[in-house]
Amino acid sequence: MPVTFTTSGALKKSALREANERLVLNTIRQNPSLSRADIVRITGLSPSSVTFIVKRLKADDIICEFKTENWSQVGRLPTAIRLRANARVGIGVELGLTGGRIVVADLSDAIVSRKTVPWHANHGVFLDKVRKAILGLAGQYEPDQVLGIGVALPGFIDRSTGRVIAAENVQWFGVEVGETLRRDLDIPVYFENAAKLSALAEMWSADGQRKPLRDFVSVVARGGLGTGVIINGEILQGATFGASEFGHIPIFPGGRKCSCGNTGCWEQYASDFALSRLYSERAQLAPDQELEPEAIIEKVRAGDAVATEVLRETAHNVGLGFVNLVMALNPQLIVVGDYLADAWDLMEETVWGVLRSRVPAYYLSEIRILPSRHRADAPLAGAVALVLSRFFNSFEDGGEKGRQRSVLMKEA
Ligand SMILES: [Zn+2]
Repeated sequence: MPVTFTTSGALKKSALREANERLVLNTIRQNPSLSRADIVRITGLSPSSVTFIVKRLKADDIICEFKTENWSQVGRLPTAIRLRANARVGIGVELGLTGGRIVVADLSDAIVSRKTVPWHANHGVFLDKVRKAILGLAGQYEPDQVLGIGVALPGFIDRSTGRVIAAENVQWFGVEVGETLRRDLDIPVYFENAAKLSALAEMWSADGQRKPLRDFVSVVARGGLGTGVIINGEILQGATFGASEFGHIPIFPGGRKCSCGNTGCWEQYASDFALSRLYSERAQLAPDQELEPEAIIEKVRAGDAVATEVLRETAHNVGLGFVNLVMALNPQLIVVGDYLADAWDLMEETVWGVLRSRVPAYYLSEIRILPSRHRADAPLAGAVALVLSRFFNSFEDGGEKGRQRSVLMKEA
């Protein structure tokens, strides 16, 4: 992720110093083993500034210096700098129909512990169990070691309060998740829509060697069909933070009824439950015999004719939605998660066939479609990234959007 700092007013001297500190820290995060000279070269800061900042970060126990194994030309063991990954941790939480999933991750994004909380139809009971599980995990660390808690929520939400305004899939309307989770917690809690976080996860963990991800779409398909859109390196939010609900754009007007009240939505034809339902219909299964996508994919790999036909038809419908994504957003990449990632090798030919037959070739020349490296964990990884990205990239809360400006600090 590029190092962009956002501030709302004139920079105070202390803010400038902290910005440079974050610049050095982020450089160390992206390059696992650096010398001080490397940091000077990459950041453009003066050697004395780098020495000062490294000393401070070492005093805070966030980085350490170690002797590398390669002898330098002058016959000394050169010193390299790296993160002390366990110096701080972030907590990621995902709430949905499959229950609550909670992970603790260190500064290198590695998950060091996890807990699950079974789903409960009473949201008060469910959220209280989630809160206790978070308290249990956070209690294993020193209070100032936990940077914050990122929470992936379903549906249309208020990001500042953590209120779920409407999430049809879990039947939550006006549920105050933030109020419950923040009780007895002295740690900052941040909220974001789960599909949007799946996109943040891809951007945050992007391989530094590859072309940076600036304009792309993440598609997740667990309990529905969600899309997170990154435009020019930022999550597309919209006027009231409700942007990118491509799952509810009709692809067959007058078609199947959707939980949103509309008919023919993309979600009804390309989501995980759409695949399971279509297979049940074609294989004439009783309602209690419905198969999960994993089982259907397994049948396709074993040569089952009905499963193959159903997956191909679903892939066609996935492709129809991708036409909308491509024409609306001109992305460099579409990342697919969940069952789409598991079955991508079986689906991609059909999906690309739909795109090539409906989209002019010049729109498709730069686009790649890839399975997510996070598979079914993308929103959870994004919840962790919501916390860690604040630690590495920002030194001051941005204030309201209109007053913000972005600056790249070069010298103290
Ligand atoms: Zn809908």
